[in-house]
Amino acid sequence: MEEKVSALRKAFEHDLGAARDSDAVEQLKVKYLGKKGPVQELMQELRAVSAEERPRMGKVINDLKESFMHLCVQAAEAFAQVEQAKRFEEERVDISLPGRPQSIGRRHPIHLMMREVIDILVGMGFSVQYGPEIDSDYYNFEGLNYPKDHPARDMQDTFYITEDLLLRSQTSNVQLRVMEGHKPPIRIISPGTVYRNENISARSHVFFHQLEGLYIDRDVSLGDLLSTMREFWSKLFHKRVEMRFRPSFFPFVEPGVEIDLRCTACDGAGCRLCKHTGWLEVSGAGMVHPEVLKNGGIDPDEYSGYAWGMGIERLAMLRYGVTDIRQFAENDMRLLAQFSS
Ligand SMILES: [Zn+2]
Repeated sequence: MEEKVSALRKAFEHDLGAARDSDAVEQLKVKYLGKKGPVQELMQELRAVSAEERPRMGKVINDLKESFMHLCVQAAEAFAQVEQAKRFEEERVDISLPGRPQSIGRRHPIHLMMREVIDILVGMGFSVQYGPEIDSDYYNFEGLNYPKDHPARDMQDTFYITEDLLLRSQTSNVQLRVMEGHKPPIRIISPGTVYRNENISARSHVFFHQLEGLYIDRDVSLGDLLSTMREFWSKLFHKRVEMRFRPSFFPFVEPGVEIDLRCTACDGAGCRLCKHTGWLEVSGAGMVHPEVLKNGGIDPDEYSGYAWGMGIERLAMLRYGVTDIRQFAENDMRLLAQFSS
């Protein structure tokens, strides 16, 4: 039996000498000291040893077991230290290195323009309301006084999804929803994307952005609309703007007007921006039609209101001197990189 013990010790020392990491040591421990390992086997054999020899042999086997255990722990600790040192070396950080530059995105010029317009109008007391881009014919057209086969529908070639569902052609689709859900005074703006089935050219696109304003209260007059417009456009262009109003037609207002600004680039002398007319067309507006108020559940004898709308691409083109609307929907970094947020 003692021969067996000393052979086992030799084999163990040989195996331990060959171990290269703490995992290998762990495996050795299992191999020699596990339930089916040779040390356990010796313990079984101890039963066959004579009674007077047994205590001594028991001690020999126990010493063997403890010394294996001890050697394994020692080896594992040594490996752990080496492994840790190696990991520290690999993960060493040179804190004197300069940081890597992070490239950050930029806001799109349409987003910048929209944000500027919203900021001004919120500052003037309007709150922002969003509406669905897929909507029913009723909210986009019929409820806004565009009966079926009304010629005004032809002004906006529309993407229909079904006979009744469409991609909204104007942010005016928010008007009735707001009237249905709120009692006057109503003072909201509604920014968003709109869709038209048009040929894509330098001046028109199949999707673009609008912002619509709506104000309803007692005794609201055309004069209120004009003063709100003067205030807004002056704030947007950082100077007192001169405006003119031309009668125009939109089914959901009566009367309707087109608003022109004295060209902000040439002060009316005539330039490329204003196509040498001295004026810039910037907005359509008017007094909310009594039929539309009725459709929204508001009594036109008690309340009146104004609404106006504008194209954000149009404003961005004026502001940034972009001459082709298609550029806003393309990813030409030479254009986009010029805008920083
Ligand atoms: Zn001009």
